[in-house]
Amino acid sequence: MARKPKVAPDEYWNPRNETMPRESLTALQVAKMKRQLEWAAARSPFHKRRFAAAKFKPAQFKSLDDLRRIPPMTREEWMEAQAKTPPYGDLPAAPPEVAIRLHTTSGTTGRMPLRALDGTRDWQWIAEMWCYGFHGFGVRPRDTVFFAFSYASFIGFWGAHYACEKLGALVIPSGSLPTDARVKLIVENGATTVCATPTYVLRLAQVAREMGVDLKKAGKVERIILSGEPSGSVPAVRRKIEEVWGAPCGDTAGMTEIGTIMVFECRHRPGGMHIIEDHFIEEVVDPETMEPVKPGERGERVVTSFGRGILPLIRYRTRDLVARVPASECTCGRTFDIYRGGILGRVDDMHKIRGTNVYPRAVEAIVREHALVDEFQIVLSREKDRDEITVRVELQKGSEEHWPGTKKALDRDLAEAHENLRFRLELADPGSLPRFELKAKRLVDKRSL
Ligand SMILES: [Zn+2]
Repeated sequence: MARKPKVAPDEYWNPRNETMPRESLTALQVAKMKRQLEWAAARSPFHKRRFAAAKFKPAQFKSLDDLRRIPPMTREEWMEAQAKTPPYGDLPAAPPEVAIRLHTTSGTTGRMPLRALDGTRDWQWIAEMWCYGFHGFGVRPRDTVFFAFSYASFIGFWGAHYACEKLGALVIPSGSLPTDARVKLIVENGATTVCATPTYVLRLAQVAREMGVDLKKAGKVERIILSGEPSGSVPAVRRKIEEVWGAPCGDTAGMTEIGTIMVFECRHRPGGMHIIEDHFIEEVVDPETMEPVKPGERGERVVTSFGRGILPLIRYRTRDLVARVPASECTCGRTFDIYRGGILGRVDDMHKIRGTNVYPRAVEAIVREHALVDEFQIVLSREKDRDEITVRVELQKGSEEHWPGTKKALDRDLAEAHENLRFRLELADPGSLPRFELKAKRLVDKRSL
């Protein structure tokens, strides 16, 4: 048995709420939900219309059991509303004049981006949510925090940047700087915390190696904070990051629709992320029936956020797959429940290849077990009515002679994890596969072409 880690005197960002007993937490959620429903019904034509269609009145909501009475909302409905009355649709509960910035995210289907408006108070709240995560993973005023982030229309780490200002840490932004310049900034300024996507954290380490920089010796990095991709909770990816950086990594997850994070990993690292339950109601349901699943069972996240005033999100179907377990699985003393293993994938991420379910995240978990792999890509194709899945692998420069061994091991491991489905394996030239800074797209589906 591991020794129980001690809880530090400054463990929590919001000690009262983060350690609130369950009944008080539930009461707080119910009170906030009532207010949110009234706000939305009074000011958002989108919600007013949908509540009326479902014959739901905010006054009917009295306890969390009444959640099922509230019609869930989907991204498609939001996009439809945007298309009908462009550019913002009728979801916003306040006019654009109140907003201070616009963020967009590319649609998963179609060409229209999702457009998110936020006002001053929304941004204060967005930063506050990131504070739970950054403080919880150990960021303090003495820290120097480096953001490998482009500060563009994607909302990404914008809120995290403001959270660091709020916490009093020193921030180093890096805009659109090339990777080698970012490595230099991190080392020369003794950054103690690096924030990026898991993919880009590995990319930084790769470039550092090519520059002859040993991050473990030359840098002062004490922790890596990840966001933007589910692989931040994949053990093999984490091990690889921790090995090259010599620092522990903590995962966070958020979404443009919320504007910030809703879960974070604390420094006790329970193998999952705590849900910020005083600001969100997170439900986990069967995506087919919308019935709640049992604790620990995989289901779809349905989120209600209490902080965004202009965009009230109520029972929003995220399509994220998660498994919720009780807060007691962590030793930090927080009463916020945990998503074990982080975001486990997307409901629509599943690909059926010759009858076998394939999740890109599961493939990544296997590929990343191999230390020599620098980058990879999954290609789905159809040949003579037969679906094929190919994994193209780039090895570290100069280690190509190890390909036969790596190929053999990958062949075995991938088949073993996929009901003996055979994967094709190809060695790609060094540097030939795409590199990503945000939201890696490592799966190419050529079947629809
Ligand atoms: Zn914890």
